Amino acid sequence: MFSYRHSFHAGNHADVLKHAVLIAVLRHLTEKEAALTVVDTHAGAGLYRLDSDQAELSGEAADGIFRLLSDKNKPLAPVPSGDPTTKKIAEPLAPLLQDYVDLVAGFNPPKALRVYPGSPFVTHRLLRPHDRLKLFELHPTDSRALTANIGQLEAGRQVVVLREDGFEGLKKFLPPPSRRALVLCDPSYELKTDYGRVVVAMGDALKRFATGTYVVWYPLIARPEAHDLPKRLKTLATKAGKSWMNATITVKSGKLPAVTAESQKRPGLPASGMFVINPPFTLKGALQTALPQLVQLLGQDRNAAFTLDSGG
Ligand code: SAM
Repeated sequence: MFSYRHSFHAGNHADVLKHAVLIAVLRHLTEKEAALTVVDTHAGAGLYRLDSDQAELSGEAADGIFRLLSDKNKPLAPVPSGDPTTKKIAEPLAPLLQDYVDLVAGFNPPKALRVYPGSPFVTHRLLRPHDRLKLFELHPTDSRALTANIGQLEAGRQVVVLREDGFEGLKKFLPPPSRRALVLCDPSYELKTDYGRVVVAMGDALKRFATGTYVVWYPLIARPEAHDLPKRLKTLATKAGKSWMNATITVKSGKLPAVTAESQKRPGLPASGMFVINPPFTLKGALQTALPQLVQLLGQDRNAAFTLDSGG
């Protein structure tokens, strides 16, 4: 079975990029009254305690969401590790980032950040009663946790949790009855085959439902499959005649620092990207303002940078 557990990474810089983009896309798609179906192919546990043993052990949120908090919503406790509030920017947060911070804060008491919402809860918060959410999670423990967390929402038939393979399961929901869909594909890439499966799944999804919005998160690590993935998705979208957008953020060098045994043990993810097929037309402008700020806030060394490409 997989060893990846998202609880070690909840609220890290990759989650900041992923969930901020997800919110921006959902805001746009829920402007139209017609029902929307959202499929989350790799849902995780749904909610994460930032003061859990796992989160505190990795302390990744300290270099992620915590760096975006201003004095106004600076948490009183607990702060996982490091000094999360040293990175300040003079100007207010870009609207896309403020929206993200506000949404996460909405799961927490005032001036505290104890709970981090994963993609199922981020999404659910923005859906209207007539929208639908399908959640795939294969890990037995996370799937149980997800079912229990979603149960608390008392969302009835609006939200369905499936302990099935998300790449395969996606097929049965496309095209959706409402003819409007957003798919988030966010694998752990623990298996090298995940990279290829993402491309196959997105290719198949586009054939089934060409007008859906498809959002893929991917890690930018020193592995050929990771660097090829956005290129392959770009080719896929271009061949299908669909528009696309690719946003990446690098927070530090990908090379292992030869400094301490600790940093050798847990080098952490240096960079990640979000590839969107059929992006809302509003997304590019929102990211043009948000990404430079994200680099300022999340950057850990002078390799910090962003890219934003689009086509179609
Ligand atoms: N999307 C979540 C979020 O943003 O909060 C995080 C998901 S995490 C990166 C990836 C999840 O996919 C893990 O919980 C893992 O157990 C699950 N998983 C791995 N392979 C899967 C598969 N083939 N189908 C469904 N879930 C899978």
